[in-house]
Amino acid sequence: MASEAGKAPAIPGRRVLMFPLPFQGHLSPMLQLADVLHARGLRVTLFHAAFNAPDPVAGYRFVPVGAGVPAADLVPTGSDADFVGALLRFNERLQGAFQDSLREVLEEEEGARPACLVLDSNLRGMQVVADRLGVPTLVLRTGGAACLVAYMAFPALCDKGLLPLQDHAQLNMPLDDLQPLQLGDMVFSTTTPHETMSNCLERIMESARYSSGVIINTFSELEGADLQKIIHGLGVPVYAVGPLHKISPSAQSSMLDTDKTCLNWLDKQEVKSVLFVSIGSLASMTQEELVETAWGLANSCLPFLWVIRPNLVQCSGKVGLPEGFEEVTRGRGMVVSWAPQQEVLGHQAVGGFWTHNGWNSTLESICEGVPMICRPHFADQMINARYVQEVWKVGFELEGKLERGKIERSVRKLFCQEEGGEMRRRAKDLEDKATECMKKGGSSETRINLLVDFMMSLPC
Ligand code: UDP
Repeated sequence: MASEAGKAPAIPGRRVLMFPLPFQGHLSPMLQLADVLHARGLRVTLFHAAFNAPDPVAGYRFVPVGAGVPAADLVPTGSDADFVGALLRFNERLQGAFQDSLREVLEEEEGARPACLVLDSNLRGMQVVADRLGVPTLVLRTGGAACLVAYMAFPALCDKGLLPLQDHAQLNMPLDDLQPLQLGDMVFSTTTPHETMSNCLERIMESARYSSGVIINTFSELEGADLQKIIHGLGVPVYAVGPLHKISPSAQSSMLDTDKTCLNWLDKQEVKSVLFVSIGSLASMTQEELVETAWGLANSCLPFLWVIRPNLVQCSGKVGLPEGFEEVTRGRGMVVSWAPQQEVLGHQAVGGFWTHNGWNSTLESICEGVPMICRPHFADQMINARYVQEVWKVGFELEGKLERGKIERSVRKLFCQEEGGEMRRRAKDLEDKATECMKKGGSSETRINLLVDFMMSLPC
């Protein structure tokens, strides 16, 4: 999977250890980073949970952690509500197993100490273990810089009594120090208890502060101001090395079977005519929302490609598309259970993306110049959507209750109105900037070189 040549090999044999979180939006960026480092001559050892294990990569060493821990103890129960709880459980339940695995790896490689351990910023528990065993850590943030700035500001909002939210009338309150964010964007979950959320964010911030450096999957032309805030606020080196999925396009691990037939279908559609609809790997909707979405797309009379993953709808009753939907949309609509999203967004037929604004999806859309209809669900998604709408102006939020009429109007606004055209032009500009930053001497290429140099300079 190593990328093309052209990059000077680092000190031969220096090894980097990596530990991703086993969720789609976290695993792929870590594998892409691994590929970037491997292409520069570092050897890779990848620790991973037994469930959602990454596909093997030639030349890497894979070390499963906590094989005996039942997956049911670690994965979210299926609702958005449990994701934060699952992160905390993951750290607790696997910490001991990781200590054993790390010690074994260090003993086996005696005399060739690894440069460092790069871990997902949600793995503070593993960082404590690495500290104990004398292994320096770097933290990978798979979210954007704006999100990390917001996490940094979270305790102050709690101290001021603004969080947890007391009054729904305050949802739209502008946050002067975090412009353009509003207080509602900082309510990362409506179901996770405030204490649990605070605990989780505190651990993320600790992982950053106690690390030797923070790696962020973004680029400075996109989030320069927020990156500066992080550099000043954290006191550790910060490396903006994205967009990783473009720098290492072959490195990823899909957790669901990808239906590539949609690419043939896209080949038959007109340029920039198709709306791609996908809300990532974790967000869900109700059956009622599914039905409204179906009729909204049908009534827009525009072509669409819609990802309905197996667990998209959380409901105990009957799940499915409404009667008559398939007949009405035959020929201009396609539904798949999992798409090759990056290829889809890069396809000439795709002209818009209805997204939940997970950071990977947001970045993937930006990098292909595709404007967005934003429908954030939880976590950092509201922040990303706010930036898409207010800062980069490459999309707009579909707010409030999902209703077919509103959906139809939003799709038409993006594809048929001047406002949508302007968003498309700005999206193209951002795409160009993303392309530039990866070139030799570009901001991300430069930061990657600095990161590798930094890793090499860490004590053996
Ligand atoms: N994805 C995909 N096929 C799909 C839907 C999503 O490959 O049909 C990928 C997408 O390209 C992205 C990841 O899944 O890289 C989702 O990550 P994101 O951060 O956007 O959202 P999350 O799933 O973490 O909420």
